[in-house]
Amino acid sequence: MGKVYVEPANTLNVYAECDILVVGGGSAGHSAALAAARAGAKNIIIMERYGYMGGDVTGGFVIMVPALTWYEKSFVRGLQEEWFRRLDPIPDTVLGPKVSQAGSKDPFLVEKWKGVHGCVRFGRDPSLVRAVYFEPNQLKIELDKMLLEERDRIKILYHSWGVRPIMEGSEVRGVIFESKEGRQAIFAKIVIDATGDGDIFRQTGAPYMALANKDTRSDKTALVWRIGGVNWDLYQEWMRTRPNAHRQMSQALKKITGFTTMFYPTSRKDVVWVNNAVPNKNCASVEDLTKTELIVRETMRDVIEYLREACPVAFRNAYLYDIAPQLGARCSCRLQGEYVMTVNDFAFAPQFDDVIAWHSTVCPINDSAPVEIPYRAILPKNVENLLCPGRHLSADDIAIDWLTLIPQCVGTGQAAGVAAAVALEQGTTVRDVDIRRVQDILVEQDVPIPRNPKTDPELEEYVRAREYGLYTEFAKAAKAAGDARSIYDPVKIYQQLL
Ligand SMILES: Cc1cc2nc3c(=O)[nH]c(=O)nc-3n(C[C@H](O)[C@H](O)[C@H](O)COP(=O)(O)OP(=O)(O)OC[C@H]3O[C@@H](n4cnc5c(N)ncnc54)[C@H](O)[C@@H]3O)c2cc1C
Repeated sequence: MGKVYVEPANTLNVYAECDILVVGGGSAGHSAALAAARAGAKNIIIMERYGYMGGDVTGGFVIMVPALTWYEKSFVRGLQEEWFRRLDPIPDTVLGPKVSQAGSKDPFLVEKWKGVHGCVRFGRDPSLVRAVYFEPNQLKIELDKMLLEERDRIKILYHSWGVRPIMEGSEVRGVIFESKEGRQAIFAKIVIDATGDGDIFRQTGAPYMALANKDTRSDKTALVWRIGGVNWDLYQEWMRTRPNAHRQMSQALKKITGFTTMFYPTSRKDVVWVNNAVPNKNCASVEDLTKTELIVRETMRDVIEYLREACPVAFRNAYLYDIAPQLGARCSCRLQGEYVMTVNDFAFAPQFDDVIAWHSTVCPINDSAPVEIPYRAILPKNVENLLCPGRHLSADDIAIDWLTLIPQCVGTGQAAGVAAAVALEQGTTVRDVDIRRVQDILVEQDVPIPRNPKTDPELEEYVRAREYGLYTEFAKAAKAAGDARSIYDPVKIYQQLL
C-alpha cells in the first residue's frame, strides 16, 4: 500500500429519511424512481451527481435505442417506449421506424431506412426493426417532466454525489453523499444503486467483478460528439456510390484518432453523431477517464478537417456542433449477484421464474431474439435492502455486452423500482419480495413478462415458433458443445456489432 491518510471520524447532518433512495439518475435510476412511484411508493429520493437525468443517454449523447422489436413483435415496451411516445410530437426529436412498421419488408420502407444503422435487419429478406434515435437535450427535459409528474412522491436531488453506504451489519440503511453543502447522510429503507459503476454496492461487502473482456464493446470508453453543417443524405449517397473511398475513410479515421470512430445519423439531417470506442479503459478509473477526455478531444479538429477534404459533397460546411458534457461510460465493476448471466443465457434461452424483463437485443448468437433477465441479476449476495439495476448488473465479462444497452438499463431499473415498492407495501425485504406481484405490476406498466396471464400470449407463441432465435450456427454449435462460452469468439462477435 502507498502512503495513506487516516480521515478523522466526523458527525454528519442527516439530510433526510426516506423509503426508497435511488443513487444515480441514468436510464436505470430514473426508471427505478418513476416505476416505484407509479407502483404506489411514496417518500422516494433520487440523487444524481450532475444536474440532469439520463446519464449516458443525455449527458453522454448515446442517442440510439436499438432492437425494440424482434421481427414483427414489440418486446421492449414499458418506460422505454413511453420516452418516444412523449418525444414524438416534438419536431426533429425522434427518428426511426414506428412500432407498427416493425418486420415490414415493404421495399420502399426498407430503402428509406437501410442507411440508418439498426433500423433494417439485413439478410435474404430485409425487414424493418424498431430502433430509435433521439435528441438528448429534449430527452433531458422530458425525463425531468416525468419525475415532476410524481412530485408528491419523488424528491430530486441534483449535484449530489453518493459516496458511501451506511451499513448495519449486512443491511444497508442509507447513503452518505457529498455536495456543495458538504457531507451529509440520508437514511433509507431500500437503496437502489444505479450508479452504473457500483459506487455503492462495491462498499457493502457484496461480491462484484471488475472489467469486461478486453475484446468486448464494454471494455471501451468514449467521448461522444456531434458534427453540424453536414448533408446526411449526400453522405449516404457517397458511401453507396464510392464503397472504396468509404473503406479508406474508415482506415484514415482510425489512423488519425487511434481508436474506432463511427458516424451515425441523428434526428436532424444536418447533424452527425460521432460515436467512438477507446480500448481497454475502465470507466471507474480517474486516470482512464482523464485520458479518454484528452485523447478524444485532441482528435476532433483533425477529424473535421479530414472529412471536409475526403468527402466535400457532404462535409464541406462541417463544424464542431457540440461535445457530450459527460464521458461515455460502458463498463467498470459488475455485480456478482444471486444469478450471473452468461453467454449460455443467450444460446440456450432458459426460462426464469423470477423474470423481470424479456428483451430482444442486438446479440447475433440467438438472432437477437428475446432473452429473459431474472430478478436475481440485480439482487446482490450477502447484503440486504439493496438492488443494483442498470449497466452494472450481474453478468459475466462477455454477456455484459448484450445487457447494458439502454433498454436493459431502463427495463431492470423499472423492475427494481416496482420490486422496492412491493417490498414496502407488503412489509417484506427486496430479497423476499413477492415476485409474482412484481411481475403483475410490471405487466400493468406495459412490460411484457413471459408466462404471465396478462401478457399477450401471441408473444410466446411467436418466439416458440421461431425456436427462440436458436437456429443460428452459433447456437447449434453451442448446443453440441454444451457450453456457449467455450466456442465464443469475442473479436468476431464485436465486429458484427459495429
Ligand atoms: C459511447 C457509448 C455508446 C453506446 N451506444 C449505445 C447504443 O447505441 N444503444 C444503446 O442502447 N446503448 C448504448 N450504450 C450503452 C448505454 O448507453 C448505457 O449502458 C446505459 O445508458 C447505461 O445506463 P445506466 O443508467 O445503467 O448508467 P448511466 O447512464 O451511466 O447512469 C448512471 C447515473 O448515475 C450517476 N452517478 C454515477 N455515480 C454516482 C454517484 N456516486 N452519485 C450520484 N450519481 C452518480 C451518473 O451521473 C449517471 O447519471 C452506449 C454506451 C456508450 C458509453
